[in-house]
Amino acid sequence: MNSFDVVIVGAGPAGLTAGLYAGRYRMKTLILEKLSAGGQILISPTIENFPGFPGGVATDELVSRFKKQAEDTGVKLAEGEVISLAADTEGFTVTTDGDAYRTGNVILATGAGWKKLGVPGEDRLSGRGISYCATCDGPLFRNKEIAVVGGGDRALEDVILLSRYASHIYLVHRRQEFRGAEVLQEQVRALPNVTFLLDSVIEKVNGEMRVDSVEVKNIVTGGKTKLAVSGIFIFIGLSAQTAFMKGLVDTDPAGFIVTDDGMNTSRQGIYACGDCRHKSLYQVITACAEGATAAYSAHSHTLTQRKDK
Ligand code: NAP
Repeated sequence: MNSFDVVIVGAGPAGLTAGLYAGRYRMKTLILEKLSAGGQILISPTIENFPGFPGGVATDELVSRFKKQAEDTGVKLAEGEVISLAADTEGFTVTTDGDAYRTGNVILATGAGWKKLGVPGEDRLSGRGISYCATCDGPLFRNKEIAVVGGGDRALEDVILLSRYASHIYLVHRRQEFRGAEVLQEQVRALPNVTFLLDSVIEKVNGEMRVDSVEVKNIVTGGKTKLAVSGIFIFIGLSAQTAFMKGLVDTDPAGFIVTDDGMNTSRQGIYACGDCRHKSLYQVITACAEGATAAYSAHSHTLTQRKDK
């Protein structure tokens, strides 16, 4: 079985930065990714708030730079979905769908997935008018009326993107106030083709083969409206991707991994960084910083273990 000083699970900004630092510490490092490097930030076409890039940077450009910089240090990137992580007295065995690896340190950088609304019609019409990715599916709704659900950064950013395609957007948000950044709120308010439906929730998605309407309820007045839309974009936050490590490390009730300031989890030798962590700010910049910190802690742990032997 191949053996590494550290195995990093996930090649988003957190995992790639952990790889860069671990590589520079001259740790024998493997980064595992189930799809392709970048993770879910690839859903955003541009990152506008990563320092050093006034006016923003194309996300795929930033990711390929992260990847090259990590690989230049000698770290190995491999494809593979981790299906189990087992601990013993000597370290850890990381098993993917095709391989198994031994390591003394595991850095979890598995990111997060998108939350679902859980309303009737959502599962059935997913991919048939219901989307969780504006960059992927926005062009399919050129000159069509659509609804967007959510009030965070993602919803606001994606309304701005979708407003270039859709003829009209109904932005459905369950409160009056938006969680998303003020600067994004200002940009959305200035768009001519956006109607705000506040204090409102989607109760049901209708359509036989494809979405043809949604039922919206105002939770203050109780009033109900049926909107004839052909698309619904749902951006209501993140859910943890931590199933394979269940029971091994402590998580919060929503499944996000709990760590200390050094990104140490409740189990020595396992660290977590990026969107799979319990924290307050889910950003590329914070993911990178946490990746660096996790690699630092893994390196310190390795040095201590070597001294003890
Ligand atoms: P988020 O910030 O968690 O916001 C989720 C939004 O969906 C909130 O407005 C929330 O309403 C609403 N919501 C949650 N559950 C709902 C439900 N069941 N029904 C209806 N509405 C619901 O999620 P996000 O916008 O996906 O962003 C995730 C993280 O990534 C955030 O930390 C965000 O800052 C970060 N992000 C950053 C950038 C950037 O900096 N460029 C871009 C995208 C995302 P309430 O407000 O009422 O809870």
